[in-house]
Amino acid sequence: MWLERTKWMLANIGWPIAFTFWCQVMVVLYAANGEISQLALYYFQFLWIIIVCSYFSASFTPPERCSLVDDDDKKSSLEGFCEQCNYRKPPRWHHCRRCNQCVHRMDHHCPILQLCIHSGNHKYFLLFLLWPLQMAIFTVYNGYYDFWKTIKSAYTGEILSNTEQLKGTGVSNAVMVGFAALYLLKNQLPNLLRNQTLIEESRETTTYDLGSWQENVKSVMGSWRIAWLPISMEVENESKRK
Ligand SMILES: [Zn+2]
Ligand SMILES: [Zn+2]
Repeated sequence: MWLERTKWMLANIGWPIAFTFWCQVMVVLYAANGEISQLALYYFQFLWIIIVCSYFSASFTPPERCSLVDDDDKKSSLEGFCEQCNYRKPPRWHHCRRCNQCVHRMDHHCPILQLCIHSGNHKYFLLFLLWPLQMAIFTVYNGYYDFWKTIKSAYTGEILSNTEQLKGTGVSNAVMVGFAALYLLKNQLPNLLRNQTLIEESRETTTYDLGSWQENVKSVMGSWRIAWLPISMEVENESKRK
């Protein structure tokens, strides 16, 4: 029990604190030395805010509950029957043993966020990969010289100042974040274009392709206007109705 709680705490509190600290160090170091323009500084902060918002939106959007109950027909149709929940699942629902419930459009149970990626938070999860990738590219763009200097010092034995060491480590972190995001996006993006989840890719023969990649992307991310922001489609529909 305490292990689960510790993992939850690390995933939901420890991780954002560490990330925020890293972003702040990068911003302060580069801004204090006047090495980035005012515009770049604002962009850095925009990225930092949007990543934290995407993270919290992904973490705190619970999966919807399946409303179906006992099905009389269940014995004759065991296909799609969930033995743990004791009902016949509608299409695109999968049982997650870690969450102990059926989850709509379940992609996978994320060990880093300690939750399921499903229809409600898939968009935020993707943003949580795309924006940090952008942050990593931006950081490397601004600090590649420090990164290079850090690598070179390992060979030449040159002693770097504390600031140089911090910047070198910060940019190395950005490189790692960038590769980790790319690694996860490698599977996520082709599936997004096909309106398919990781589970469906591995297990199902049914296709949910809506006919064009644009429609498939919109079905997860919302209209192009809000696709890149951590705003839910319900909020957009609500504002249209007003
Ligand atoms: Zn179930
Ligand atoms: Zn789960």
